[in-house]
Amino acid sequence: MGFFTKAIPLPHKSTPGSFNLIDTPLPRQVTLPVQQYLGEPATPTVAVGDTVQVGQLIATGKGAHTLPLHATLSGTVSAIEERLTFRGTRVPAITIEGDGADTWTKLPNRSPDPRTLTPAQLIERIHRAGLITTGASPSPLADDLLPLDRPKTHLSSDGRPVVQRIDTLMIAALDTEPGLGVNRFQATREHDELPGALAALKALTGAERTVFVVDKHHGPFPQLMSLVAGDEEETTTITPITATRYPISLPAPLIKAVLGREVPLPYGHPRDVGVALYDLTTALALGATLTTNRPQVEMLMSVGGAALNQGGIAKVRIGTALADIIEALGGLQEPAAKIIAGGPLMGMAQYDLTVPVTKEVAGLFALRFDEIVLTSGYRECINCGRCVMVCPVNLVPGMLSLYCAKGHFERAEAEGLFTCIECGCCDYVCPSRRPLVHLFRHAKHQLMEARQ
Ligand code: SF4
Ligand code: SF4
Repeated sequence: MGFFTKAIPLPHKSTPGSFNLIDTPLPRQVTLPVQQYLGEPATPTVAVGDTVQVGQLIATGKGAHTLPLHATLSGTVSAIEERLTFRGTRVPAITIEGDGADTWTKLPNRSPDPRTLTPAQLIERIHRAGLITTGASPSPLADDLLPLDRPKTHLSSDGRPVVQRIDTLMIAALDTEPGLGVNRFQATREHDELPGALAALKALTGAERTVFVVDKHHGPFPQLMSLVAGDEEETTTITPITATRYPISLPAPLIKAVLGREVPLPYGHPRDVGVALYDLTTALALGATLTTNRPQVEMLMSVGGAALNQGGIAKVRIGTALADIIEALGGLQEPAAKIIAGGPLMGMAQYDLTVPVTKEVAGLFALRFDEIVLTSGYRECINCGRCVMVCPVNLVPGMLSLYCAKGHFERAEAEGLFTCIECGCCDYVCPSRRPLVHLFRHAKHQLMEARQ
């Protein structure tokens, strides 16, 4: 059986108020890890006691893998120390005590028309702004767009040279799981910066056509429709999909569903099948940077869960502690059984709410006891096969989990561990409540650490 023929139906995030925009107040403090994704950490360029302004460069490094970091609050650097991130790792982080003034640093003149920039200038601007790709696998956007000689050739994620012309720019106006909503929310609004972002992405990737992928049960999408109608060359289209067929909106299943192309797993990349795939949030962050020449200092995230007083789409400063966001939303109605950074299915449970929100955190959910399955008392695998029936990449998750739990990581790898896209479908259906994705992530991490 081919990949991605299996899926599980999940409810929409469509309860009243779930797409309400909530503008949270300026936090008193932000903490900015110098490593905001799975790349190399940056080196601080400020010291404790320095005063900083919004948008000021506070950490940098060499190479496209290391993202520069900018202050998201004006105030004083109060600490540079190791702090916990939402991934559970500890990395150096810069803490800024706000002065309440929210003063922006003086930036170079307003940017020239992005269409006049060369590809190298565009890449430099993208890198300087510290942009990442949001979605399932965050990485520095400039790095993802390199090398510039594409479409003639590019390197695949495992270092092989691949000659594959990119013909399609795919913009996913979808969220990686139905519990999240920022991309769908943004798709219904109009954005001055979107045309410039699309032009830049097409120039950098060489794609001739643009496909917007939208949620069939959401909308309307006035700007996307007018971009399609206004394209005289008829190279822009909209493809609606049923986004509740989880995990259809993850990169590999999405490309299969929309274009019928199969990204080679486990190490393949959309480019390997001629697709430059970005979500709408990434495109808008790029467009905003090209328009204003400012780095990204705030972001939208989905907030929800029955324990939270208020749900919707929250606008927050990057670096705000999860606890401060919860307080800004009116606090908890009752003690939460679980707080998750990210989506309810693929996100990570948090035990320390001083963890700051970073660019790749798409959501914050405070769940009640009746909304979760407690994994502390998980049982032995009963070989029921339910996980096999839902795994979109045809693995045998129950067996893989046994190898991982016993530390037989190489054996798990031989059985397809890295083909797992961490969708969480197996967790969702397991009657023994086994923490399957947790075990897979842990095993992958151990194997990758051992090879560094
Ligand atoms: S998390 Fe991995 S093993 Fe489980 S269903 Fe998804 S792809 Fe399959
Ligand atoms: S669903 Fe759970 S109990 Fe059933 S086979 Fe898979 S891991 Fe084992």
